[in-house]
Amino acid sequence: MNTEEPNNLKVHHRERFQKMRTPFYCYDMELLRDTIKEISRLTEGHPYKVHYALKANANPTILQEIARLGLCADLVSGGELKAALDAGFEPDSMAFSGVGKADWEIRLGLEHGIGCFNVESVPELENINLIAGKMGVTARIAIRVNPDIDAHTHRYVTTGTAQNKFGIGKEMLPDVVALAHDLPHVCLRGLHFHIGSQITQMQPFVMLCETINELQTHFEGLGVHFETINVGGGLGIDYSNPDTHLMPDFEQYFGVFSQHLELRPGQELHFELGRSVVAQCGSLITRVLYVKENRDKKFVILDAGMTDLIRPALYEAHHLIQNITSQATDSDTYDVVGPVCESSDVFARNCQLPITQRGDVIALRSVGAYGESMASSYNLRQLPGSLFLP
Ligand SMILES: *Cc1c(COP(=O)(O)O)cnc(C)c1O
Repeated sequence: MNTEEPNNLKVHHRERFQKMRTPFYCYDMELLRDTIKEISRLTEGHPYKVHYALKANANPTILQEIARLGLCADLVSGGELKAALDAGFEPDSMAFSGVGKADWEIRLGLEHGIGCFNVESVPELENINLIAGKMGVTARIAIRVNPDIDAHTHRYVTTGTAQNKFGIGKEMLPDVVALAHDLPHVCLRGLHFHIGSQITQMQPFVMLCETINELQTHFEGLGVHFETINVGGGLGIDYSNPDTHLMPDFEQYFGVFSQHLELRPGQELHFELGRSVVAQCGSLITRVLYVKENRDKKFVILDAGMTDLIRPALYEAHHLIQNITSQATDSDTYDVVGPVCESSDVFARNCQLPITQRGDVIALRSVGAYGESMASSYNLRQLPGSLFLP
């Protein structure tokens, strides 16, 4: 039985939760601020720029806080560009990633003078050049390189191997760099990388640094200098023990880059962190609709499902589940499931919980990233609400 006190769901909130319509995302804004302050503390005095990847969580209140505390924005759609502008992020320091940018999204980015398009293919490069030419502007770009590094994470969240759709292969890079220099309406600022997500070992990041060092040496031989190197995001968090690791080890993470990456004089190093900024500050608060017993199984059926939190169904992800109202001292084993008509709508199998009853309030922890932002209305369900603990 898990007796761990859910310390960001302080006891006095529980009564309040019980009166609220569930499910909803509950955000600990103090933890969000502390996390960003820690990132700022560790990057101060270095030529580093930290972007926040909006796709992890684009709730307007969360975005405003992150913008206010000085992170830059990393976008993957025109909708995110608009949300970032609304939240107060500076267009000049925005980066726009993604393999399939539509013309209207490129135009929107150019109209607002965004800092950098991370370009993922030759046809995209040519299209950006064409659109910028028609608009009479120059597009600042970086080339996204596929470094062919295995991030040792789930196959759906690894992005930097040759098998993935992302980026441009190292062997093609010299030609693409030459093309970017030849095109009149783009300005090549640097190279961009992103090897995957939920990476908890530092080794893939060390390998990334080594790959970048080799590439930089190669291009220096050709007389090519890059203003910026962007190493993407991907730093993982502790889903099993959120309360003992409310933040990932940012010191170790940034230390890897300061130790292994050979930045050139005047060069800026950019990061694009998503999950590691917001994941631990969010919990999904949901209510038990029914406890159902089959021949050899007990099911806890929640009012939250895969439409509210799709990570378990999509990535086989595990979130810590806590019954925050049960006073029971005995526990039992349950499959914790949602109400959606899909067999994959399961949050956990064989989960130990205190004896659980209809009406109990349950918290699914560490859901601040890729939770609310991935919610859908499948089954015509209502989108989850949100609550912010100051
Ligand atoms: C998703 C994404 C990120 C953020 O990844 P996290 O694992 O959430 O840190 C950064 N850069 C790019 C290009 C991405 O697609």
